[in-house]
Order: sequence, then C-alpha cells, then structure tokens
Amino acid sequence: MNFTYSANPARVLFGRGTTAKAAEELDHLGVKRALVLTTPQQRASGEAVAEALGAAAVGLFDGATMHTPVDVTEKAMAVYAETKAEAVVSIGGGSTIGLGKAIALRTDCTQLAIPTSYAGSEMTPIIGQTEAGRKVTQRIAKVLPETVIYDVDHTIGLPPALSVTSGMNAVAHAVEALYSEGANPVLSLMAEEGTARMINALPAVIADPADPSNREEALLGAWLCAVCLGTGGIALHHKLAHVLGGSFDLPHAETHTAILPHALAYNAPAVPDAMAALARATGSDDPAGHLYDVPHKAGATMALCDLGMPEDGIERAVRITLETPYPNPRDFDADALRGMLRRAWAGDRPRV
Ligand code: NAD
Repeated sequence: MNFTYSANPARVLFGRGTTAKAAEELDHLGVKRALVLTTPQQRASGEAVAEALGAAAVGLFDGATMHTPVDVTEKAMAVYAETKAEAVVSIGGGSTIGLGKAIALRTDCTQLAIPTSYAGSEMTPIIGQTEAGRKVTQRIAKVLPETVIYDVDHTIGLPPALSVTSGMNAVAHAVEALYSEGANPVLSLMAEEGTARMINALPAVIADPADPSNREEALLGAWLCAVCLGTGGIALHHKLAHVLGGSFDLPHAETHTAILPHALAYNAPAVPDAMAALARATGSDDPAGHLYDVPHKAGATMALCDLGMPEDGIERAVRITLETPYPNPRDFDADALRGMLRRAWAGDRPRV
C-alpha cells in the first residue's frame, strides 16, 4: 500500500470557554497588535473577543461577508494598515475566516481563527475570492491559520437551520475524502469519525440547540471533517456545489446539503470501501438515504428548485460539469448526471 499524507501544521485548542486563552495564544505567537474580524451580525462576539485580548486588540472590522469580495478585503486592509496590526483574529463562520485568509494572502500576517460554524475553512490552505462576479479559488500555504481556537460556547448561538446545513457542509468534506484522488487510510479514519460525530449529533443539536454536550460533539466532528477538506481531495459533489453556486448564485451550505445525498448515491457503485465506512459512521445500510433523511427531518430545504435553481439549469449544470470535470471514482455520464440532478432539483430521495 503506497500513499502520501500531507498534514497542515496548526495549533488547536478545543473545548468550552477556550476563547479565554486567546490573549495567551497571541503571546505564544509573538503577536503584540491584532485586528479582530467578524460580520455585522456577530459584532457582539467580536467585541467580546477584543475585550478578552485587551491591549493586543488594536481594532475591530465587522464587514466580513459571503464569498470574500475583494472590495471588502481592501476596506479591511485599510484598517489593518491604519491600526499597524501584525495579525488577525477571525471570529465567525467561513466568511469571516475567509477575510482573515485574504489579509494573510496579502501580508503573510499571523492568523488566529475562532470558528463559530461548522464550515471548516480554518483547517484549509484554500482561499476563494470574488471580483466582478467571479470567484477564483487557490491553495496556498500562507493562508492557513497558525492557531485555531474551537470554543464550543461560540457555537451555541449558531441558529438551528444554519447548524444543520453547516453540519452537512462539513460531512460533505469527509465523504469526498473517502473516495477522491489521494484518499488514504489516515484520512479515512478522520473522515469516518468526523462523519459519525456530526451526523449523530445533528438531530440532538436541533432538539436542544443550547445543550453544550451536543454542540461539543458537532464541533469535534466539524474539526475532523475540516481536516479532510484541508488535506484530502474533492470530487463530483464539490464540483456540482461549485457549478451550482457559481452559475445560479445558490447559497453555499444549503446547496451542499441538497446535493450531497445524490452525489454519494451516484458514486456508491464505484466506492464499496467508502460506503462501508459510511454505513459504520451513520449506523445505516443506506448511507446516501441517511444523509438525506437527517437534514430533511431537521427541516432543511432538500430541493434545489426551492433554493432558486431554474429547471433549465439542470442541462446547463450537466454541460459545465462534463466540460471541466474533477477526477471522480465513477465516470461522468450525461444521462446519469441528468437523472441525479433532476432528483436533487425536485428534492426527491437519492437513488443508488
Ligand atoms: P458564514 O460565515 O457566511 O455565516 C453565515 C451567517 O451566520 C453570518 O451572518 C455569520 O455571522 C453568522 N454566524 C456564524 N456563526 C454564528 C454563530 N455561532 N452564531 C450566530 N451567527 C453566526 O457561513 P459559513 O457557512 O460558515 O461559511 C460559508 C463561506 O465559507 C463560503 O463563502 C464558503 O465558500 C467559505 N468556505 C471556505 C472554505 C475554505 O476552505 N476556504 C471551506 C468552507 C467554507
């Protein structure tokens, strides 16, 4: 058995109340002046972090937004320069962490990330930026945050609907790590464990969003799934999520949620080992169906038409996918892709 495993170096603190260690962590990183980043919706969390950092917080920028638009990054860069910061502390979901990465791309600054959703950007050297309506993604080591503080307490306020779709976004990273190019036994351990923790925690998170023990399970699962995205590969599912997000401006986590069961069902015949791992993780002999049922029962939108995809978009998505395919364990077949996308568009259960 020959394989290559590349780890992404990062220091991680996990637990409840771990944000209290942020000042100590900046010190450990040799940082004296940090700019705190967040969204307008999470300004209060940004202020609390700035307060906990004391004199090391030299400013707060709360303009982070979806898809890392370059004009927003330029505004944040102006504040970064004005405040003479040498690091960023990003508290929020993938959008805020994306802004921190965009600043690191331009300055090579130190990043401390405090994720509050399950999207997983904090564990990846991947950055996507949007300019003139076009999102360009690259992999570059300097955007990987140096330190990540997973603080369960910051996830308790993640709204239930977003918890489900963000959680399924995480599971998608793990599922594709099991069968994409570069899959290996080390990553598969994390993928199976991450999927199990997240998928089994989600119903409990929805039933009692404020219970920290459910949130702890989900966040640990999110971390493991994020490692899968950071070091593993992607295949059909992520290809479709990118095509649909880019072509029809569909929302990120919701699109992942609606596509994942169908992409897995498409690949199932070609990936028996991955299906066995997912059967163990989900406790179901129909993992694709299970990845549909959990978010569906939790009230997530499972029909791409309800997310804003037009019916004639199915043909367009098939064409783009075939024109620029990602490596995938099962060959891309136009009729099979069409059938799968039609079911996802209508919100039907997946068919293996
Ligand atoms: P998001 O960061 O856009 O957050 C959505 C909303 O929820 C925001 O208003 C945010 O402030 C709020 N929010 C987040 N956590 C909260 C909490 N605990 N309590 C209350 N409100 C909270 O959404 P996301 O799904 O986390 O991230 C999506 C973005 O991340 C996309 O742009 C995607 O492309 C990117 N992403 C990048 C990578 C990567 O590796 N580069 C990986 C995953 C996602």
